[in-house]
Amino acid sequence: MLYKSFKASLAGLAIIGSFSIAGPAAATVNKETITNNERVAGLRMTKELFGKMPDGTPVDKYVLTNVHKVRVGILTYGGIIQSIVVPDKNGKLQDVALGFDNLDQYIEESPYFGAIIGRYGNRIAKGQFKLDGKQYQVPTNDGPNALHGGPKGFDKELWAASPIEGANWVGVELTYLSPDGQMGFPGNLEVTVRYTLDNDNELAIHYSAVTDQDTIVNLTNHTYFNLAGAGNGNVLDQIAMINANEFTLVDKPLIPTGEMQDVKGTPLDFTKPMAIGTKIHSDNDQLKNAEPKQGGYDFNWILNNPGDQNALAARVTDPESGRTVEMYTTEPAVQFYTGNFLDGALKGKNGLTYEHWGAFTLEAQHYPDSPNHTSFPSTELRPGGKYTQTTIYKFLPM
Ligand code: BGC
Repeated sequence: MLYKSFKASLAGLAIIGSFSIAGPAAATVNKETITNNERVAGLRMTKELFGKMPDGTPVDKYVLTNVHKVRVGILTYGGIIQSIVVPDKNGKLQDVALGFDNLDQYIEESPYFGAIIGRYGNRIAKGQFKLDGKQYQVPTNDGPNALHGGPKGFDKELWAASPIEGANWVGVELTYLSPDGQMGFPGNLEVTVRYTLDNDNELAIHYSAVTDQDTIVNLTNHTYFNLAGAGNGNVLDQIAMINANEFTLVDKPLIPTGEMQDVKGTPLDFTKPMAIGTKIHSDNDQLKNAEPKQGGYDFNWILNNPGDQNALAARVTDPESGRTVEMYTTEPAVQFYTGNFLDGALKGKNGLTYEHWGAFTLEAQHYPDSPNHTSFPSTELRPGGKYTQTTIYKFLPM
């Protein structure tokens, strides 16, 4: 259902003349309405200046709003989802995405809050892989390993943006050309990411990429959710379901050993809904690998319906507020991470701090370190081929 409706929407896709606020007016023209979709009441898109890069280049924030007052803010820096405001069961609106309210903090200290991750999401062991018989070394930035595309991944790049809209959605299309050799990866990679919001409360992320040389690609979005509101305590009471019977076993630096393990009888069994905190403290090697002191989740769950856009991949509910997020994806796996490295030190939006386990992520992805495991689904992309991914976060209640 979801996939069909998304495809139908794409067929009706229109790029609205690109809109720029340039020059000195930018500081004073704070907010502009770009579109007010007349065909379906309540869909709106505005654009405002969010900040300036150190070289003065403006960074814009696009805000998509729907009829249920769901509001999603997207930055041209890192393609970051800066805010997701959703109602609770009583209609109370709260921002459920962790982040900052200024660009400087995103540049200086963000642990990938809301960002597009590329060229390779999650870890590559020792930053090394072989492609077509050639050995590559990409820069390492997580102990001896490469994480999320290296020290300057797609999350730290400026993306070009154009507003887009269809009959029943509004959105923004981001594009970025990652040059051959950037962060050690071969091939010029042209990446397009479309964020869309509709009146069914579906925030869809549609990725595509093409290359002119054989390369590897694993894109995702790194939104940290707290359904009780970003900065409102931890997520241990929130109830998660992950539609996955297996996960990829990892060693201490969170590199897959190559084995798949059944979740049954382990604290990673979320096939039936379970509060995130129920087993997080268990004496379990995998949990300790993710967070040696107090335990934590940071694993790659292998989805039971890989590639099936219509199958529910994961669902998390905050029982108190009734807010729920569901994830649907064409990707074969999801990294469910519980903010194990948050420690209350970062000052987030509205001066709130983000404590240990203060959020969870649902990163739709291919398996970590796939280039070094021939048994994993391939992340190779060749000239003439096209990388595509659609991931939908659906918010309830409406
Ligand atoms: C990884 C974590 C990492 C975090 C960075 C997650 O995707 O799985 O290990 O610490 O990103 O914020």
